[in-house]
Amino acid sequence: MTDAKKIKIALAGNPNSGKTSIFNALTGAHQKVANFPGVTVEKRIGHRRFNGYDITLVDLPGTYSLTAYSPDEKVAREFILEEKPDVVINVIDSGSLERSLYLTTQLIEMGVDLVVDLNMWDEICEAGIEIDVDKLSLLLGAPVVKTIGSRGQGVESLLESALVLAQNGQKIHHHPPVSYGPALDDLVNQLSGCVSACSGCSGCGQPRWLAVKLLEGDQEIKNKVLVPGNGVRELHETLDKSLAHLKKTTRDDPEIIVSEGRYGYVAGIIREVLKRPLTDRMRISTQADNILTHRLLGYPIFFIIMWLIFEATFVLGQYPMDWIDSGVGWLQAAVAGILPATIWSNLIVDGIIGGVGSVIVFLPNIVILFLGIALLEDSGYMARAAFLMDRLMHFLGLHGKSFIPMLMGFGCSVPGIMAARTLESPRDRILTILLVPLMSCSARLPVYLLFAGAFFGATAGTVIFSMYLIGIIAAIAMARILQKTILPTETTPFVMELPPYRMPTGKSILIHMWDRSKLYLHKMGGVILIASVVLWALGYFPRKTEFSIAYDTRIAQLQSGATESGDAADMAGEIARLENLKSAEELEYSYIGRLGEAIDPFVSPLGFNWQMGVALVPGFIAKEVVVSSLGVLYQMGETEDIGGLIEVLRHPEEGITPLAAYAYMIFVLLYTPCIATVVVIRKEIGWKWMWFSTVMQLILAWGGAFIIYQGGKLLGWG
Ligand code: GDP
Ligand code: MG
Repeated sequence: MTDAKKIKIALAGNPNSGKTSIFNALTGAHQKVANFPGVTVEKRIGHRRFNGYDITLVDLPGTYSLTAYSPDEKVAREFILEEKPDVVINVIDSGSLERSLYLTTQLIEMGVDLVVDLNMWDEICEAGIEIDVDKLSLLLGAPVVKTIGSRGQGVESLLESALVLAQNGQKIHHHPPVSYGPALDDLVNQLSGCVSACSGCSGCGQPRWLAVKLLEGDQEIKNKVLVPGNGVRELHETLDKSLAHLKKTTRDDPEIIVSEGRYGYVAGIIREVLKRPLTDRMRISTQADNILTHRLLGYPIFFIIMWLIFEATFVLGQYPMDWIDSGVGWLQAAVAGILPATIWSNLIVDGIIGGVGSVIVFLPNIVILFLGIALLEDSGYMARAAFLMDRLMHFLGLHGKSFIPMLMGFGCSVPGIMAARTLESPRDRILTILLVPLMSCSARLPVYLLFAGAFFGATAGTVIFSMYLIGIIAAIAMARILQKTILPTETTPFVMELPPYRMPTGKSILIHMWDRSKLYLHKMGGVILIASVVLWALGYFPRKTEFSIAYDTRIAQLQSGATESGDAADMAGEIARLENLKSAEELEYSYIGRLGEAIDPFVSPLGFNWQMGVALVPGFIAKEVVVSSLGVLYQMGETEDIGGLIEVLRHPEEGITPLAAYAYMIFVLLYTPCIATVVVIRKEIGWKWMWFSTVMQLILAWGGAFIIYQGGKLLGWG
C-alpha cells in the first residue's frame, strides 16, 4: 500500500466572497455561513481525499489586501509566506471582480501557485454580466474556474486544477508581472534586481514582491530584509534613491502610488474581460440604497426595523414561551410527586429543573432574535446599517467598520469582540472592544423579559427596547470620554463596503440560527446547570433546626384537624402561609441569606431586595443565570414555574416597585456581560484592558441604577 500524496491548499479571498461556502462544499465540515466581513477570523482546517491525494484545506481570513495592518491580513500573509501552501485558491466574488483582483495581483506577486475561482457565477449570469474567462486566465497566467459555492457547483474542478498545478509547479503557468505604470515599473525592476543579487535576501520571498513592499514602506518586510551586515548595503542605497525620486516626481506617499498603480493594472484587466450592462437589478439596488442609506430617511427606517425585530422577539416569543413554561411546571410537579421528599428530590426539583427551566423558557425569544439578526446579515442590510452609522461613528472617533462588531454584540458580546479583529488600528480595536459589552446581548434578554413582564405589562416591549437604547447611549458617552482622555482620535482612511442585496437562503438562515442557539443551549447544560446547583446548595445549607415558632407542629395540628378552625380553604391558606414563613426563615439562615445580608447595603440604595442583589453575583458567570438564580432563590418554599416567579416578584410583600425593577434592568444591562466576555477581552487586548473594562462597567452599572432609582424617586415615580 502506498501512502497518499499530501497536498496543502489555502483558500484566500475577500470577505464574503464565499470562501467558507467553498470550504464547506469541499470538506463537508459544518461551518458558519455568514454574510458579513469579520466573521471568518480564525484559520479553519479541513481534509479531503481526491484522486489519490490527501488534501489539507485551510480557510484563510477574508482580506482585501495583504499589507500587515490588520490581524486578518497578517494571518493570511504569514500563512502563505511561512507555511508555503502548494496551491492557493483565490476565491472571487465574480460580481466584484475589480475589488477582488486587487488581492489577486498581490498573490501573483508573492509567487504562489494560484487557481482563480470565479465564485457566485449564478449572480453574474442573472445580472447579465459577461466575463471572458479564457482571456482572464491568460492575463493572470493562472487557471480560472467558475463555481457556485453555496450550491457546491464546480468545486471539484477547483481541486482538479489545483492538482495539475501542484504536479507541474509553475512550469505550465507563468504569471506575467504586475505592472504599476511606466514610471513605477522602472523603480520596481531596478529594486527587484538588487534584491535578487543580495545574498541575505534569498528566502525572504519573491524579489519583485519584496521590491514592491520595500517601496510601500512595509515595516515587517523592511525588518526582515534590511538586516545590517547582510549584504544589503547596495539594496538600501537603491531603495533610498528610488524613494527620493518618487518624492520628487509625485509628492505623494509611496504606498498610495503603489496602490494606485495596482488599481490601474486591475482596471486594465477589467476593461479586457468584462462586459457589464446596467441591469434592472443594479438599478433596483441603487434605488434601494438611495432610500435605505438616505442621510435623513435612513435612520428612522433603521430604528423601525430594529424595533420590529425586538417587538417580534417579545410578542411572537410569548406563545412557545408559555408552552415551555407550563411544561417545566408540570415536570417539577410530576418529579416531586414521584420522588420521596429528601434532599435529593429537593435538589432535582428546585435546583436543577427550577434553575435550568427558568432559563430554557427564553430559548424561543432568543431564537427569534437570532433569526432577525441573520436576516439582516444575509440580506445585505447590515452593511447598509454600517454605512449609515459611519457618520455617527465618526462622532465617537471611530468609523462605520466598528459598527459591525457592535451590532453583533446585540447577539452575543463574544463574537462581537472577536469581529473587532478586522479593524486595522489597535486604538480603534481597543475602543470598539470596550464598547461592545455595552450593546445589550441576548443573554440579558431573559432578565428584561422577566422584569418587564412582571412590572410593565403592555409597555414591556417598549421598556425592553429602551434598554437597548440606553446601552447605546452609555456607549456613546463612554466613547466620548475615552476619546478625550486615554484613547485620542486618530484617522485611518478606509473604504466602506456595500455588498449587493441578496435574497437570504433558508439554509444559511437556519445554520446561523442553529449555531447561535446551540451556544445558548451549551451554556444552559454547563454553566447554568452548575450555577443553579451551587446556588441551590448555598441556599439549602446550613440547615436550620430551631425556628421562632414550632412550624411543623402547627402545620401538623392544622392537618390533623386538631384545631377547631372553620372551612378547609382557610386551613389550606394558613398552612401555605406557615410553610412560606418557615422557608423564608430557612433561607435567611442559609449561606445565601448571609451573603444577601452582606450585599444588601450595596444594593438597597438601588431599590433592590436582597434576593435581587444575590442573583447579580452569579450573574457574572452569565447573565441568564440572574434569572435562574432568582428562580432558585424564590422557589425554596413552593414549586412554581416562571409565571409563578413573576407573581412572586410582583407581590407587594417583596416591595419591588416598577422603578426598582427598571433600575435592576439597567444594572444588568451595564455590568460585565459574562465570564466568557472577560476572557475574550483578555485574549484580544490584554490584562490591563480586561480589568479596565470590568471595573468600569461595575461603576457604570451601579451609578446608572443609582441615578435611575434615586432620581426617579425624587421625581415621584416610585
Ligand atoms: P466568506 O466570508 O468568504 O467565507 O463567505 P461565505 O462562504 O460566508 O459566503 C457569504 C455569503 O455568500 C453566504 O450567504 C453564502 O451563502 C453566499 N454565497 C457563497 N457562494 C455563493 C454563490 O456562488 N452564489 C450565491 N448566490 N451566493 C453565494
Ligand atoms: Mg468565511
